[in-house]
Amino acid sequence: MSGTELRNISFHGIGTPNEPEREPDEHRYWVTESAFLRVLDLCAEQPNVRLSFDDGNASDAEIALPALQERGLTADFFPIADRLGTPGNLDDDTVKALATAGMTVGTHGAAHRPWTKVPPADQNAELQDARARIAEAAGRPVDTAACPFGAYDRKVLQALRTAGYRTVFTSDARPARSGNWLQPRYSVEADDTPETVRARMLTPRPAGGRAVDRAWLMAKAWR
Ligand SMILES: [Zn+2]
Repeated sequence: MSGTELRNISFHGIGTPNEPEREPDEHRYWVTESAFLRVLDLCAEQPNVRLSFDDGNASDAEIALPALQERGLTADFFPIADRLGTPGNLDDDTVKALATAGMTVGTHGAAHRPWTKVPPADQNAELQDARARIAEAAGRPVDTAACPFGAYDRKVLQALRTAGYRTVFTSDARPARSGNWLQPRYSVEADDTPETVRARMLTPRPAGGRAVDRAWLMAKAWR
C-alpha cells in the first residue's frame, strides 16, 4: 500500500436549498454559509484533507470558490451535465472560472441518477457524453468522477475503469489513501458543525482500522 492516509470531505449546496427540492431530502445536504466557512477553516488547518463539491450548485462559484481562494485551498468540483446553465446551477462560464482558478473539475454524470441503476443504453450518456459536456465547459479534459448518491458496484467500477477515469470518488465515510483509484469521502450534512466534522471525519483510525477499511472497501467493490 502506498500513499498517505487522507480524508476526503465533500459538500453539496451552501446557503438556501433550491425550492422545490430536486430529490427527496436534498436539504439534508445543504449547509449554511456560516457553518460552511467554519468547517472550511477547520479543514484548512488539516494537512491531509481533500475537499470536493458535488451537484454543481451555483453556490460552488458564488460562495465556495472565493472562500477557498481566501484560504489558499483547492478542491474538486463535480457538476451534473444536464443541469449546467439551469437556474440555481453552474453554467459554462462559472465552470470555466473554477477551472481557471486552479480547481479540478470532474463529472457527476448527466442526470443525477445512481449509476448502478442506469440501463446499458444510457451508460454512454452518463459516463462519456456528460464528461465531454463538462470538459467543454471547463476548457480542459475531465478524468475524475464522483458517483451520484455514492452508489457503485463492480460493474460500475469496471465501466469507469474502461472509460479511463483516473480517480473515482464515492461516499463511503471512510479514510482514503492518496493515489488510490477509488477515493471514499465523508459528506458534510446540514446539522454538521466543526465539532461534529472533527469527531466524525478527522479522528485518527484506531489500531487495526486500516485493515478493516481495506477489507470493507474491497468487499463493497466486488458486490
Ligand atoms: Zn450528487
